[in-house]
Amino acid sequence: MSVRCDFCYRECLLAEDQRGVCHIRVNRGGTIITENYGEVVALGLDPIEKKPLFHFYPGSKTLSVALFGCNLFCSFCQNYEISQHEYYHNRTSRVITPEQLVKEAKATNSSISFTYSEPIVWQDYLLDVATLAKEAGLPTILVSSGTFSAASLKRILPFIDAFSIDLKGDEAFYKKYCKASAEAVMKSIMAIAKAGKTLEVTTLLIEGEHTLGDVHALGLLLSDMGVRVWHLSRYHPAYTLTLPATSEAFLHDALAVARRSTIPYIYGGNSRQDQDTYCPVCNALVIARSSGSIHSFLQEGRCSCSQPIYGSFV
Ligand code: SF4
Repeated sequence: MSVRCDFCYRECLLAEDQRGVCHIRVNRGGTIITENYGEVVALGLDPIEKKPLFHFYPGSKTLSVALFGCNLFCSFCQNYEISQHEYYHNRTSRVITPEQLVKEAKATNSSISFTYSEPIVWQDYLLDVATLAKEAGLPTILVSSGTFSAASLKRILPFIDAFSIDLKGDEAFYKKYCKASAEAVMKSIMAIAKAGKTLEVTTLLIEGEHTLGDVHALGLLLSDMGVRVWHLSRYHPAYTLTLPATSEAFLHDALAVARRSTIPYIYGGNSRQDQDTYCPVCNALVIARSSGSIHSFLQEGRCSCSQPIYGSFV
């Protein structure tokens, strides 16, 4: 019997024993299963700023976890060895139950991040962990391409506190570099912003492919969607894409263009750019970040001028 998967926007209709586009979900006897459920391929304690999340408990640690798999095929993927299906059989994994993972996060007093590969394609494991994490009072984070199906976003939203979503470019960019579509990502960003979750969007800037005009257009789009935090990150060659790394000069110019949008918090990533947070009203320094050390000047989430700063703070 054929069954439709609703984990991501592709909504694959799978015949008996057929795999989805992600190669992870497969129809076994009329039920679609996630073949590598619980097989953890990456686990580590990260500074939350690495996600990147600058407005969600700055300076805290997060237990980052990944299973194998992705539903996109980005030619510049930095984690292709745990995302792309041709590497599936090379994986080294160990089974970690949701109970064990939450116990480890509690022991390290950290949040839990679903990250590195594409957690949407192993969202059954994500949801089992996140349900227990919520019962234990632990914050949860999803780092994702944002290519949910409408049903899966609705399912996941109540269990995730903060989202780090990639917006890689426009529709033509997604088609050319990711064999995917921007439309689902845009819809997800809008829905997450509307739901009032902490949301930070990242765009990996590829010089020579993204233009300053693209940055301007994306900035307007994200402003309209209610995005408050935007990271523009420098691309470095990875996987099959061999274009030269994005220069600091181009990122500098792109940041200047991005700041003409109404997005109040804009950061440069993978670079020497200023990483600090400033009050959008009085321009006072409210969070200083340098060489891995974080200092917050916030008082109950507010600047000294009383302006609330976007995000979640201790
Ligand atoms: S997760 Fe996406 S790509 Fe994979 S089977 Fe489901 S709908 Fe298809």
